[in-house]
Amino acid sequence: DIAMYGAKARGNGEYQIYDEGLHQKTMSLLRLETDLRGAVDRDEFSLRYQPIVSLASCQVVGFETLVRWKHPDQGDISPEIFIPIAERNGVILPLGHWILDQSCVRMKAWLDQMPEGRDIFINVNISGKQLMQPDFIPRFREVLRQSGLPGISLKVEMTESVLIENVDDMAAILNQIRELGVRIAIDDFGTGYSSLSYLHKFPIDVLKIDRTFTARLEKGQKLEKDLVPIIISIARNMSMEVVAEGIETPEQLRILRDYGCEYGQGFLFAKPMSASDAFGLISGDAQLPDFCSEDAGSA
Ligand code: C2E
Ligand code: MG
Ligand code: MG
Ligand code: MG
Repeated sequence: DIAMYGAKARGNGEYQIYDEGLHQKTMSLLRLETDLRGAVDRDEFSLRYQPIVSLASCQVVGFETLVRWKHPDQGDISPEIFIPIAERNGVILPLGHWILDQSCVRMKAWLDQMPEGRDIFINVNISGKQLMQPDFIPRFREVLRQSGLPGISLKVEMTESVLIENVDDMAAILNQIRELGVRIAIDDFGTGYSSLSYLHKFPIDVLKIDRTFTARLEKGQKLEKDLVPIIISIARNMSMEVVAEGIETPEQLRILRDYGCEYGQGFLFAKPMSASDAFGLISGDAQLPDFCSEDAGSA
């Protein structure tokens, strides 16, 4: 195993190939792999909610659920690290089910307390491995039924790569999701595939422009500058909504508005927050920073 390999490398004098940093990293990944099993039962996960905002009105139109893992002795571990591990060792199945269930229950509670005339949705990330489970759709239907949440209040996010891997099966699954009333968003759009022809094969409602595009908008990088309006016009032609991810500056917001981008998400507006802070925004007890009034953002 890894530890023995280290010792051997020392013994035959090839000490330079033994990389202590790499060894540590490998050991801690193995450790995380083990610790992830059971972390659901030990209640170590929690959910945060990041506002999705109308760029024209600065109103919160929805939230994206983002999972957090508090490791007992390593503290907060990024989902960028543990989600891929959970996908490999299968923990994503119970974890993903828990995330979907909690999100539906939470959203239903919000709906029930929502001020008159207000309407929001919730976005939940779904991994490819979850989608490929034969009982994904019946379990999904059951989660909706038990929570009482109407499918229309929910969107699922998945990446392009998940769809491309298995076009026919995925098209069938996405159609069944749609039959539940649930809408479909493509996450991190633009990072995966150069061919756009696959878009026609799936019932897609929303494109989320990856934050790497947003980040490069104001740095005068031609490719990204040109691509973002192209993505927006493709989406419009196909009657999809567009959400720009990772908006961090008023200048990025201004450019995206100029391009006619309808929705956005990012630290400029708000970081992922607790459920009670999220409800504060819905109920009107709290407000996002104002980038929409007459003189906002003109500085
Ligand atoms: P994602 O679905 O694309 O989520 C957006 C990520 O961008 C989140 O990171 C969010 O905190 C971050 N973000 C939002 N606004 C900004 C910004 O203005 N600037 C920057 N630099 N980052 C911003 P997070 O929460 O660390 O999640 C990372 C990824 O982990 C997610 O990317 C998603 O792929 C995965 N993930 C998170 N939660 C879940 C989950 O519940 N289920 C599954 N399957 N995957 C999840
Ligand atoms: Mg997402
Ligand atoms: Mg994303
Ligand atoms: Mg991402």
